[in-house]
Amino acid sequence: MIVKKRFENLFCAVLAISLVIALFGCATPKASSSGTPSAVSSVAQSAAESPAASSSQPSESASGSAGAADGSEGFVLLSDVIPDAIQEIRYYSTYNFVGARVDGYEEPCALLTKEAAAALKEASDEFKDMGYRLKIYDAYRPQMAVDHFVRWAEDLNDTAMKSYFYPDIDKNALFVMGYIDQKSGHSRGSSIDLTLFDMKTGKEVDMGGTFDYFGELSHPTYSKGLTDEQVQNRRTLREVMSRHSFQPIPTEWWHFDLTNEPYPDTYFNFPVSAESVAKN
Ligand SMILES: [Zn+2]
Repeated sequence: MIVKKRFENLFCAVLAISLVIALFGCATPKASSSGTPSAVSSVAQSAAESPAASSSQPSESASGSAGAADGSEGFVLLSDVIPDAIQEIRYYSTYNFVGARVDGYEEPCALLTKEAAAALKEASDEFKDMGYRLKIYDAYRPQMAVDHFVRWAEDLNDTAMKSYFYPDIDKNALFVMGYIDQKSGHSRGSSIDLTLFDMKTGKEVDMGGTFDYFGELSHPTYSKGLTDEQVQNRRTLREVMSRHSFQPIPTEWWHFDLTNEPYPDTYFNFPVSAESVAKN
């Protein structure tokens, strides 16, 4: 019995420590940023989630700017800018098309460039007046996460999540069809995946499709089989985001890129964690 009691005490202690870590996992820490991999710079643009950046302003690329060697000094923790946005960072969880936590997601946090976060705050304010809050699925995505997607896509035997995310597409077509690519606009730090949460109903707004579903149903203007309300909800998301400097893409209703993004040629690789941006 004594042994059992000690075991229970130990279990309680571990549980308490785990809860503390979970509660404060994404708070802005005071600790200084640790050394992290260098930013990946490239002039190549992603075909999948990143229509060519329209920006012509000078690029303050990570490799050419002072500050943190990994380029993270231009980024913020989104919860510091929009504290009431709901965050469900899918690539930190196992409920995503890979079926595992994705490389580089050390905490379930949304990080964005300061410019993208400020624009998103304005969109959030307008949505709040309409009775909505933002629900964030993904924001900055390190290059190592995209590399993980590529490795997963090359393993044709791993189809564990097919029935949820790509039921009608052969896995070997994901590259050809542009669903997976070597680069993602998310790695430049000014792209966001999100939906709306209705504060009156306490539910997500019905967009007639789910995040990261690989198929035509995800095209923002797709309407076959959708109700008028679902079509209108997608339109509302697009219109408000567009009013606040975010442009939609033709393939995913949940994805938006900041126009005039600050780092149009830089694919960052520091991990997703509060510590990565603690000094900013
Ligand atoms: Zn996206």
